Amino acid sequence: MRILVVEDEKDLQRLLKKALTDAGYVVDVASDGEEGHHLGDTEPYDAVILDLGLPKMDGVTVLERWRKSKRTMPVLILTARDRWSDKVAGFDAGADDYLAKPFYTEELLARLRALLRRAAGIATADIEIGPMRIDTRSSRVTVDGNPVKLTSLEYRLLAYLAHHKGRVVSRTELTEHLYDQDFDRDSNTVEVFVGRLRKKLGVDVIHTVRGLGYRLDTPGLGGHDSEHHGTGHHDTDHAED
Ligand code: CA
Repeated sequence: MRILVVEDEKDLQRLLKKALTDAGYVVDVASDGEEGHHLGDTEPYDAVILDLGLPKMDGVTVLERWRKSKRTMPVLILTARDRWSDKVAGFDAGADDYLAKPFYTEELLARLRALLRRAAGIATADIEIGPMRIDTRSSRVTVDGNPVKLTSLEYRLLAYLAHHKGRVVSRTELTEHLYDQDFDRDSNTVEVFVGRLRKKLGVDVIHTVRGLGYRLDTPGLGGHDSEHHGTGHHDTDHAED
């Protein structure tokens, strides 16, 4: 999951970046409203944390412009101004949630998880797919109750697919959501990570959809394109061989 933080206070910016990175998110940071607006308008984010009091363009205007140009990602507004009128303006501009400074990092992370779940139509913090269970609070994954040890990138990949369960996700889309803006992206590496992830999970939940990408679903629901994951030979995804 890739998160945009628009915040001009350097200390808070650092704190947010660290907390979010530690929690397994990919984070881009903008220090003023114009930069924030531009990033949110051009890059695909899974959620945005947006300060209201910003240089160059205030947060409410940033949000209004995004919504006007049909950018629908969940937005959590963060501000020192705990006045009811600011909250109303924020929600009316298209905010999904609100947190007043100072705040507890744990609460921010919990609200962010809730926003991401809601956007994905998931009701609880545990995502279950067949015998696999993903605890999005602790970033822990089990298969048949046994813990699976994943690297942070592997977890990010799995969590992204899980939040788009049942939908085909292209390699390009995955690459865009797994790395921040400064990363030298190469969609071929996604294949390698998918291969490793499949091996570690040992259960057929990541289905290859030939020529299109991947779909996470219950084992057996992969359709004709993914019946041969176990062998790997008949698949377009050779990274697992
Ligand atoms: Ca500010």
